[in-house]
Amino acid sequence: MELTIGSSVLELVQGDVTQQDTEAIVNAANRSLLGGGGVDGAIHRAAGPELLAECRTLGGCETGNAVITRGYRLKAEYVIHTVGPVYRGSNPRTERLLESAYKRSMEVARAKGIRSVAFPSISTGVYGYPLKEAAPVALRTVAKFLREHPEIERVCFVLRSERALRAFEEALGKVDLAE
Ligand code: ADP
Repeated sequence: MELTIGSSVLELVQGDVTQQDTEAIVNAANRSLLGGGGVDGAIHRAAGPELLAECRTLGGCETGNAVITRGYRLKAEYVIHTVGPVYRGSNPRTERLLESAYKRSMEVARAKGIRSVAFPSISTGVYGYPLKEAAPVALRTVAKFLREHPEIERVCFVLRSERALRAFEEALGKVDLAE
């Protein structure tokens, strides 16, 4: 599924974010940046040990923030590591932190002159954010950024499961992307 936002494209696909050939892929990291399970583990395995070595030099990342490293053995030149919130029930603060994780990732990409970015669904694995609540936040935040910053030409959400893809497709049909 694909949507045009100004001169940019927002895309939803089912797949593995580690395999994307966008200039940057985003990692759903934890605050230590020292590796974990889920998509973080998969990215570190695919990128090789040099990625962890560079992460060690960064001193962690706050929830809602993002930092960038090289991509090493990945097709993507860069990895943007962002830390989403742990979900403990729906509340505005948690939602703001999820929004911030997407927004800061886009800002970091833009600051590097990156034109294409692939995201996994942040916080919806081990961190427990329900897909139905997370998908509209992800889409709204990225769509708003693309409208304001057309230098980023393509953003692809790469959803691991069919269920996640469906949740994002449904959200895309519902959220007001002109907000
Ligand atoms: P978090 O700790 O932010 O919840 P997880 O890595 O546990 O991060 O999960 C985030 C989302 O990424 C989940 O929806 C999970 O299904 C998905 N995921 C796991 N592996 C991959 C992958 N290789 N590519 C894309 N998405 C993935």
